[in-house]
Amino acid sequence: MHLRRERSRKLIETFKASLTSFACEACGVDMEAIYGPLGAGYIEAHHRIPVAQLEPGQTTRLADLAAVCANCHRILHRNGLMSVEDLAAHLRARRGWPLAAEPRPEDWQGPDKG
Ligand SMILES: [Zn+2]
Ligand SMILES: [Zn+2]
Repeated sequence: MHLRRERSRKLIETFKASLTSFACEACGVDMEAIYGPLGAGYIEAHHRIPVAQLEPGQTTRLADLAAVCANCHRILHRNGLMSVEDLAAHLRARRGWPLAAEPRPEDWQGPDKG
């Protein structure tokens, strides 16, 4: 169990190192746009397939991880493990964003921006 968790942590480090964007895959927000340097590179790794549901011996691959912000991560788990794609579609429908991965900063930055 300990070994498995260590491996998982290593995988998550590799996953984060592989990211070229730190925008949330569900809502599209990059924390750096809101928090500035304090939020730069802040993202969470979400297992699309719950670790508990993996077959014995089956390992999580990079493709099984999704990069999501802390809020979306909670919402995903709060709703019976909603898929990242379903949450992204839900948010697009609510906000009219063209693509979850392409946030328009004017939609969520405060009046003091720039
Ligand atoms: Zn998000
Ligand atoms: Zn998760």
